[in-house]
Amino acid sequence: MWLVDRSWGNQSCRQPPFRRLGPGLLAAATLLAQAPDLHTKRPASLLIRNAMVVEGPGTPASGPRDILIENNRIARIVPSSARPPQAASTIDAAGKYVLPGLVNLHGHIQDERGGVPMDVNFCLKLWLASGITTVRDVGSAFEKSKTLRRQSIDGHIAAPRLFLYPFFNARTPAGAVQQVRDFKQMGADGIKHLGAYRDVMEAMRAEAAKLGLRTAHHAGVEETNAWDDVRLGTTTIEHWYGIPDAALAGEVQNFPPSFNYQNELDRFRYAGRLWREANPKKLSQVLEAMVKANVAWDPTLNIYEASRDLQRAQNHPWFADLLHPALDQFFKPNLSSHGSFFINWTTADEIYWRENYRIWMAALREFSQLGGLIGTGEDAGFIYQIQGFGLIRELELHQEAGFHPLTVLKHATYNGARILGKENEIGRIREGWLADLIIVNGNPLENFKLLYPTSGAIEWTIKDGILYHPPTLLQDVKQIVAKARKGPSREPKP
Ligand SMILES: [Zn+2]
Repeated sequence: MWLVDRSWGNQSCRQPPFRRLGPGLLAAATLLAQAPDLHTKRPASLLIRNAMVVEGPGTPASGPRDILIENNRIARIVPSSARPPQAASTIDAAGKYVLPGLVNLHGHIQDERGGVPMDVNFCLKLWLASGITTVRDVGSAFEKSKTLRRQSIDGHIAAPRLFLYPFFNARTPAGAVQQVRDFKQMGADGIKHLGAYRDVMEAMRAEAAKLGLRTAHHAGVEETNAWDDVRLGTTTIEHWYGIPDAALAGEVQNFPPSFNYQNELDRFRYAGRLWREANPKKLSQVLEAMVKANVAWDPTLNIYEASRDLQRAQNHPWFADLLHPALDQFFKPNLSSHGSFFINWTTADEIYWRENYRIWMAALREFSQLGGLIGTGEDAGFIYQIQGFGLIRELELHQEAGFHPLTVLKHATYNGARILGKENEIGRIREGWLADLIIVNGNPLENFKLLYPTSGAIEWTIKDGILYHPPTLLQDVKQIVAKARKGPSREPKP
């Protein structure tokens, strides 16, 4: 058994699949510094000159600075001067912003949707093209994802760092203990759970704590709610339902007699009326308790947005070139595809959901003011969100919730690293930290839309010291989509 923690970042002993640029190539490399020649390469040393730096933990931008990367680590950060440190390759970042790579806490690695195959590089490359250097995968085909995690660590594929939280589904306390041990044995980084019985969740959490596995709870409307997360020390609440559900005036939400939780139209329609039923005083108590118990919140605001504005969600301009046919098919209203419940979605539904967002966003602000830890996740591959774009929309929605753009970036970098327990390795532009960062032509604090891959503003995504050129990645993804649209039957035979 191996653990990712022991091997990640320690890559110098492995055969590099990317070409190392040694000092002998200095002159050529400097000349070609900004050309895609560096794409997929890890220079022995890289100097990013004259950058405005947003460090990550919420502190203001500062620059111009020079950042020296040696192999896969940030070696030095110094004010830009006439005599910069020497390096094999140089990127001039004058007028540009450098931020830590973004952390997506709620990803799903997908190689199919509803049985229709989808090249997994669609997800992986879109994530990197959006400046995402770390993804916490909360449910996918584990063995396949484990191979991708290994290939990403080795630099064999263009992909973010992957942390795998397989889906827990034991139905008895004894089964829970066994499954947690199995997950540990398999090399899981943590556990994702949803809809467990209370006694099963208790047994799972106790064993997970013993084995040092973090847990992400998709807190649905179920037997457990945020009070259980507080009591048992859940690492993150995913989404939100379990929070207002723990603060209801009565025992249960005021569902109509015909309500069926299994029917997604019912479920999402009445989810849109859940926040308004939370008692504000009780809600404050829940939020306070979460803060005390160190339960973080990954709200995934972006994934519900179709509920408040369906037309917007169905007409993203990037769908023209980037909507993979497998996703296109999956998004079409059909109660058997998760999240594709928009059958007779009404004006009233959207209005309820708009109010739902207002109360939800106020709760996020209150949670933050109390000292709560908030991260960013996207949950793309469902409900009209595609990978990468979902996370950038998440940043915009955190700003809409009332957070300063610097705080939004803190949610998406430093806080994400803390939630993963990797705050001494990633999530900051700091000496000794791993070289996960992005170089943006423009100021994202002024406009997060610069981070959408279609804007072309991210010039480089650097993961573990390896450079990726987002416009090139986006071209690759467009080709994947174009090829899939032609269909396998029309592929030319070799
Ligand atoms: Zn999810």
